[in-house]
Amino acid sequence: MERLQKILAQAGVASRRKCEEMILAGMVEVNGEKVTTLGVKADPAVDSISVNGKLIKGEKKIYVMLNKSKGVISSAKDPQGRKVVGDFLPGIKERVYPVGRLDYDTEGLLLLTNDGEFANMLTHPSHHVPKTYHATVKGVPHGSALEKLQKGIMLEDGMTAPAEVEYHDVDTENNEAKITITIYEGRNRQVRRMFEAIGHKVIRLKRIKFGDLYLQDLGRGKYRHLTPKEIDSLL
Ligand code: URA
Repeated sequence: MERLQKILAQAGVASRRKCEEMILAGMVEVNGEKVTTLGVKADPAVDSISVNGKLIKGEKKIYVMLNKSKGVISSAKDPQGRKVVGDFLPGIKERVYPVGRLDYDTEGLLLLTNDGEFANMLTHPSHHVPKTYHATVKGVPHGSALEKLQKGIMLEDGMTAPAEVEYHDVDTENNEAKITITIYEGRNRQVRRMFEAIGHKVIRLKRIKFGDLYLQDLGRGKYRHLTPKEIDSLL
């Protein structure tokens, strides 16, 4: 943490003395809040600092992919004290938020970022980012049942868009099937509800792909930064 006038002066705004005057004149904001007293400190790596509305120091933008484990909440905090995704991001001091959500019991690829515009764009209903899951279901659905999912199926909140669906593995001994399903929407518990609608309970759900990004061999509970090329591929 450094004094605001020092950060401003180092950013080339003006001399330290002049920057103090600018602070006292109410021209400086930190994270959207006007600062009018001297002695306030900020972290140039994390805080957004602006002078007369012009951003001088912005927070570094971070984009990560996490392989979320089962039993973890997709939010920054949990009032009940359960594990949250932030607990799995050691070394990331920026405040990042998940791009959409995965259920408590769903595992797999979850993007996190502090770039609100990027997150809003990807989760906006008009932006149909494909999301692919491996769903292990109780029983072995008939081809005709899977066709219903491919055409779109009526749920409580309306028809779903057509999905891509195929058998991945059929385990007749345990009466289970693993199905690969790609959906183009992001409704609450959508994949679980789609399979329930054809009479098959999802017993395990893992997201393996988001847009063009694959989870690949990223370990459970591990994260990595996206490359600039990967970030661009989502825009
Ligand atoms: N669909 C679900 O049902 N759950 C998720 O977590 C993601 C998609």
